[in-house]
Amino acid sequence: MDYDVIIIGAGPGGIYAAYELTRNNSSLRVGVFESGHELSKRKCPIDGVKVKSCIGCKSCSIMSGFGGAGAFSDGKYNITNDFGGTLFEYIGKEEALRLMHYVDDINMANGGAGTKLYTTANTRFKTICSQNKLQLLDASVRHLGTDKNYVVLENLYSQLKDKADFFFDTPVRHIEILQGDDGTEYYKVITDDGEYTCSRCIVSVGRSGSKWMEQICKELQIPTESNRVDIGVRVELPAELFAHLTDELYESKIVYRTETFEDKVRTFCMNPRGSVVNENTNGIVTVNGHSYEDPERQTGNTNFALLVSKHFSVPFKDSNGYGESIARLSNMLGGGVIVQRFGDLIRGRRTNHKRLSDSFVIPTLKAEPGDLSLVLPKRILDDIIEMIYALDKIAPGTANDDTLLYGVEVKFYNMEVKLDEHLETEHKGLYMIGDGSGVTHSLSHASASGVFVAREILGQYA
Ligand SMILES: Cc1cc2nc3c(=O)[nH]c(=O)nc-3n(C[C@H](O)[C@H](O)[C@H](O)COP(=O)(O)OP(=O)(O)OC[C@H]3O[C@@H](n4cnc5c(N)ncnc54)[C@H](O)[C@@H]3O)c2cc1C
Repeated sequence: MDYDVIIIGAGPGGIYAAYELTRNNSSLRVGVFESGHELSKRKCPIDGVKVKSCIGCKSCSIMSGFGGAGAFSDGKYNITNDFGGTLFEYIGKEEALRLMHYVDDINMANGGAGTKLYTTANTRFKTICSQNKLQLLDASVRHLGTDKNYVVLENLYSQLKDKADFFFDTPVRHIEILQGDDGTEYYKVITDDGEYTCSRCIVSVGRSGSKWMEQICKELQIPTESNRVDIGVRVELPAELFAHLTDELYESKIVYRTETFEDKVRTFCMNPRGSVVNENTNGIVTVNGHSYEDPERQTGNTNFALLVSKHFSVPFKDSNGYGESIARLSNMLGGGVIVQRFGDLIRGRRTNHKRLSDSFVIPTLKAEPGDLSLVLPKRILDDIIEMIYALDKIAPGTANDDTLLYGVEVKFYNMEVKLDEHLETEHKGLYMIGDGSGVTHSLSHASASGVFVAREILGQYA
């Protein structure tokens, strides 16, 4: 056996699994395979000057490499069971929260100390939201910021690199199940550069590995279920309009049920004084956002997503495919992400370069001015417009003409893999964690799932 444990994917799920394994059992042989680059080599070529938009790199530095999709993220660790995944359904609510706090302690010990932990507990905004037909979800939020998040990852890597073997730029192509003489299953991990065997395998390939996961689950006959897709826009407006909320809560997760369709629309990934960025998932360019902890790197704008969930089952069940088609449409019309002023959307006209340059809100992402009503289905667009008017009641100015909407933002969820309460597949010793498993969709849940599985494995070696 080449390794006791092989981890596929060095995002938060894989990193915290490796951390917990190597910290508690130094004799374990751990190998980590990552299709992207090591942290110091991760660099998105978009510089706003020579390269203005996504050029579709072979390995997207935003999504792949040590740190995973989280490396240049805002580093918001939401400590809650209310959103960010359904880990609690497998391991229980208390354990899930305990592990999220444990991850927070590791982050604090590795460069995150001094960052703020926000909480919605006892906030007056709960009442204000309720009075306006909005629901504020409960959470504690540690905001590391893109800069500190990077430092934490650097520190974790410097500890891990001597305790585990890292293989960067090494996508795993296949996993084969083998059987020992005693009938015990073990695994062969196949890459372009070689094949490696292990007795335990943790698959943590995140959203960028969603297509690969589908293939692997088919090959290994692991049952899966389709998951939802979230579709919407990223809103950008002057930071002052949301400052009363963001100064106290940093991130407010607010849900609204629309009057027309009774659909739920929610705010997602709020970035006070942040920047809007491109995201490239499997060649499709969508929008996202982040912000820095360092005031010098902050902007005058706040951004957040407004998302509507769609889940298809019969006869069409490819929810992600549906989201992809909508994103492709925006890529087709705008060459990437489209930006539109709210006032133009309401008046049924395209935003053009002139209207955008006259706008009081200066965009932080260079996107093509266009018309989102040609991209988003009517129902989703109506939901978003209603939500903007609802938010205008608690943050007046949200529905201003110059509020910018970037589209599309799509949250692809991996299909849900059939796992037991140990996050183990039907094959003994083959675990699937993080966003790739469909169980989580956040930094805190993905990291916690890594620690959980590491402890399961440590117990077997005790
Ligand atoms: C711009 C941005 C901002 C975000 N901000 C936040 C935030 O503030 N808070 C929050 O909670 N979440 C945020 N997220 C989401 C968060 O990053 C993810 O939920 C989290 O990273 C999931 O962790 P993971 O380990 O499951 O997967 P990932 O982080 O996606 O890591 C998976 C890794 O596996 C690798 N991989 C894939 N396939 C293979 C293969 N076949 N072989 C080898 N390696 C493979 C990938 O290259 C990747 O590095 C953000 C995401 C983005 C893109």
